[in-house]
Amino acid sequence: TTAAEDAIALPRWIRINAIQTTADKVLKSHFSDYKPVTSLSELTAPGRSPKEKIYYRCEYVPDLLAFPASAKIDFTKHKLYADGDIIIQDRSSCFPAVLLLPPPGAKVIDGTAAPGNKTTHLAALVSSSKQSSVLAFEKDPKRAETLKKMVHKARAEKIVTIRAGADFLETRPKREVELRDVTHILLDPSCSGSGIVGREDPTLLPPPAAITAVAGGRNAKKNLKRKREQAAAKGTADAASENNTVDAKDKDRLAALAAFQASIVQHAMAFPAARRISYSTCSIHAEENENVVMAILASKVAKKRGWRVLKREEQEILGKWPRRGLVEHCGGDKDVAEACVRCNPGEDGGIGFFVAAFARDGEGDDDYE
Ligand code: SAM
Repeated sequence: TTAAEDAIALPRWIRINAIQTTADKVLKSHFSDYKPVTSLSELTAPGRSPKEKIYYRCEYVPDLLAFPASAKIDFTKHKLYADGDIIIQDRSSCFPAVLLLPPPGAKVIDGTAAPGNKTTHLAALVSSSKQSSVLAFEKDPKRAETLKKMVHKARAEKIVTIRAGADFLETRPKREVELRDVTHILLDPSCSGSGIVGREDPTLLPPPAAITAVAGGRNAKKNLKRKREQAAAKGTADAASENNTVDAKDKDRLAALAAFQASIVQHAMAFPAARRISYSTCSIHAEENENVVMAILASKVAKKRGWRVLKREEQEILGKWPRRGLVEHCGGDKDVAEACVRCNPGEDGGIGFFVAAFARDGEGDDDYE
C-alpha cells in the first residue's frame, strides 16, 4: 500500500452485476457471516478491528457494496470477479448511470466508453427488457480492446454494441437510423483526472492520450501524478482546494480539456430523440465541472433544443446526496449548483468526482442542424 492509500484507507467498492446475479444472492452465498452496517462512516470508523466482518450496502447506488479497506479482501482474485458477477467500481463512478437512469427498453449511448465500467452499468440497468440497447463509442482502438473484454466479462454482449475506434464527435445522428431514436446519452470524457487518489483500480487504464497530449507530454503526466500524490498524502481538504493553485500551464491545459468536454455534450444535445444526457469527470477542478455545465447551458444548441439541467428534486436517489456543485462557479445560480453532484477525494469514500445531467422535455427545435 502507498502512503496515500494508508492515509485515506478507501473502502473496497464492488458493484453487483445485475445482468448475472443479485446483491442478495452474492451476500448469501459468499458473505453470509458478514453483518451490515447502515452508513459509510460506520464502516470506516477509526478503531474498528480488521477482524470484524462487516459490509455497507450503498443507499445511493442499488447493487453496490463496500467492505472496509482493513479487511484486505482482494476482489481481483475472487471467484465472483473471475465470473463477472462483480465489477470493482468506485461509488462515484456509478453515479452517472444512476443519474441518467435509462428505463428498461431504452436506446442508450455511451459516447466515451473504455474501459467500460459505466457501459456495463448502463447495460445492467436496462437488462430486464429485450428492446434495450447500449451503443458504446471508443475512439482509441487499444482502449476499445479493453472495453470489449469488460463487456464480455460482464456478459453484456447481447445489450452492448461497440464501435471500436469510432469518434463520437463524428456521428451524424440524423442520418443514421441507429442513432435517430437514442433517448439517453452518457458522457464521461477524458479529463485531468485530478480527483483520482488512493488505490488504483486494476481494471483502470492509464490516462487516455488526449490528456497527456493536451498536457504537453510525459513531464506533465509526471507532474500531475506528483500533484495527486501530494494532495492525497496531505489530506482531502488540500486536494479540494488544489483548484486555487493551478499554474498558468495547467490553466491552458484545463481550458483545452473544458472546450473538448463542452463540445462533446453539445454534440449529444443535437440527437433528435435525446431526452437525457449525463456529464461526468473524475476532476475536482471547477474549470472542467460547473464551468463546463454553465458553458453548455449557454450554448446555441442547448437553447434551441430546450435543454436544461436535471434539477436536484428530479433526481430520484441522487437528490439525497449531500455534496452539491459550487455555487460560486455557477454564476451564483443556486438551482444549477444544486443540480450538480460532487464527491470529494477520500472524504466521500473514493475518488474526487463530478456529475450533472441535462434534460429535455421534448419542446424545442427538432430540426436543429
Ligand atoms: N466511462 C469510462 C469508464 O467508466 O470505464 C471511462 C471513460 S475515460 C474517462 C474517457 C474515454 O473516452 C477514453 O477511453 C477516451 O479514449 C475516450 N474518448 C475521448 N474522446 C472521444 C471521442 N471523441 N469519441 C469516442 N471516445 C472518446
